[in-house]
Amino acid sequence: MSNFAVCVEEHACFLMSQKPWRLGQALFNALQELAPMVANSVRGTDLDPFYDDKKCENFLTYLREIEERGKISRCNFCGRYLLVGQKCKAFEECE
Ligand SMILES: [Zn+2]
Repeated sequence: MSNFAVCVEEHACFLMSQKPWRLGQALFNALQELAPMVANSVRGTDLDPFYDDKKCENFLTYLREIEERGKISRCNFCGRYLLVGQKCKAFEECE
């Protein structure tokens, strides 16, 4: 595991080069793709930047914090990021 928050930011930049999304939309959608279960834990909270770009900074701070505290792991099968203890459900083969 490494560079979780950076990967989300970079993927959001890529998405914004492809779609007319605001930063907050792109960041949330990037998290949804790379770490759907982490996105679920953020959706609708004060950390969710999808409808409010003013929340982007807190969103990124949160991602960096959980990474620095060792709370991020990766699925051995599909590579998606998870919170430690979560079980990836993206594919049947995920573990
Ligand atoms: Zn998986």
